Amino acid sequence: MDVESPGAPMREPSTSGVGPAIRIAAAGERQAAERTERETVIELQDLSCYYGSFRAVRNVSLQIKKQQITALIGPSGCGKSTLIRTVNRMNDLVPGYHTEGRLLLDGQDLYGKDVDPVAVRRRVGMVFQKPNPFPKTVWENVAFGAKINGYKGDMDELVERSLRRAALWDDVKDKLKQSGMALSGGQQQRLCIARTIAVEPEVILMDEPCSALDPRSTLQIEELMAELKREYTIVIVTHNMQQAARASDTTVFMTMGDDRAGYVVEQAPTVEIFTNPRNQLTEDYVSGRFG
Ligand code: ADP
Repeated sequence: MDVESPGAPMREPSTSGVGPAIRIAAAGERQAAERTERETVIELQDLSCYYGSFRAVRNVSLQIKKQQITALIGPSGCGKSTLIRTVNRMNDLVPGYHTEGRLLLDGQDLYGKDVDPVAVRRRVGMVFQKPNPFPKTVWENVAFGAKINGYKGDMDELVERSLRRAALWDDVKDKLKQSGMALSGGQQQRLCIARTIAVEPEVILMDEPCSALDPRSTLQIEELMAELKREYTIVIVTHNMQQAARASDTTVFMTMGDDRAGYVVEQAPTVEIFTNPRNQLTEDYVSGRFG
């Protein structure tokens, strides 16, 4: 996919607010996809997340389906990042952080006693809010994880393939020896995506991946996500409701209770969440009445 090509159709992603202009692209296609029963890749069973004694997320039960884009939306502080970081055990490093309940990847409990968090992160990659390339060349950024994992194949080929999949190859094929930090913000984020897919994860988590990007780069990332879901399962946290509406197949709406613990209000096909939500809290949120 050449998202940079001048002839590529452009939509203008808006970055704030919500209103009747919300575009739900290819809604029919999504509904058709929903009718096809998809395999569950990640399952949260009554999962609660704690920072010390503070319960940040309570009793979440969810199924994340294969080769779909699932968006987590909800007001700031309702635990979206906490939940997504829990899925690849990123919060293990936070002192006092612990979970209750179960988190299954392909049926295996990721918080089981014998599970190595590093192995989990290999299977569940993560792209962060702010592009964070290593202070290394473009080539080394992409090869880094594969080298650590002892990749035995042709590294140049892997780097090229990953950069092509991340729709970045044409931009950087003559800059492989330059620093990844010298790229534009949008290119850096695609470099981070290339780095993530180079280790062939099953799932890609994205925590507000476009919040530091301009509208054009945002659109490129959304188009890239649509390509990547052919091979990967994607979970994205976004504060941008238009983005969730445009880019995801399934939306999970979270909010928080009086105890400040976040919880899931409803999970449904994106088109339903934005046009016909079951819960009044969801309706109020997606129509901009609160949050
Ligand atoms: P969101 O992504 O929806 O904005 P977060 O997951 O960042 O929400 O935060 C959920 C709650 O957990 C908030 O009350 C926040 O203050 C708290 N929290 C987040 N990270 C930490 C941390 N490292 N230590 C203690 N509390 C945290």
